[in-house]
Amino acid sequence: MAEDFRDNEARERFELDVEGHNAFVTYRKSPGAITLVHTEVPPELGGKGVGSKLARATLEAVRTQGRRLTVECDFIRNFMSKHTGYDDLLAPGQAASTNTATYKAGCFCGAVEVEVTGKPVFAGYCHCADCQAWSAAPINAFSLWKSGDVRVTKGASEIGTYHKTENSYRKFCKVCGGHIMTEHPRMRLTDVYANLLRGYTHEPTLHANYASKTLSVKDGLPKYSDLPADLGGSGETLPD
Ligand SMILES: [Zn+2]
Ligand SMILES: [Zn+2]
Repeated sequence: MAEDFRDNEARERFELDVEGHNAFVTYRKSPGAITLVHTEVPPELGGKGVGSKLARATLEAVRTQGRRLTVECDFIRNFMSKHTGYDDLLAPGQAASTNTATYKAGCFCGAVEVEVTGKPVFAGYCHCADCQAWSAAPINAFSLWKSGDVRVTKGASEIGTYHKTENSYRKFCKVCGGHIMTEHPRMRLTDVYANLLRGYTHEPTLHANYASKTLSVKDGLPKYSDLPADLGGSGETLPD
């Protein structure tokens, strides 16, 4: 088979041409990072192992480019679960879906409990004005989990919800006023406050919304003006 693999940055996808047909993996890049979003193999190329070839070439390209990898695409995820040697590409917090660790978090009085499974998709610190005002603190230590990996295990009827914007549904205990988590429906991620998770080690990789900071943190982590591109932000960074 005549084949041609390329990184088509103009179309934001890795492409593999086979016999005049084009299979591809779409992505989003940000400085030093990449998210693989979706894989498509035309029906004409079905059953020829083209998908696996494309996945392998894509992951090798990610390695060559030295980018931290996030995988949204089920096809690539499945490929990685069946083929060893690529997990080291994953960004911190993106480790294998086989991780089934669970952590519990409770409100201030203990009336409400939630449980999370696996590893957070992102962990870091948020400096946004909303987090500051809601928590009455300069910084929120967030750990973002896939919403499906977060379960309320106690006191569901005691949970109050307030949303100032459609992006963030903030949840608190109606008994003690303690904060529990924030659902982000558009990202399908839930921030369970890192300081509430028992036995969990917060491994922050970034600071978000640093443009609104009221406290500088000189820890050497990337300081995003708003959000990283793979969380829908500008990807712009600021000095410590
Ligand atoms: Zn409570
Ligand atoms: Zn915030």
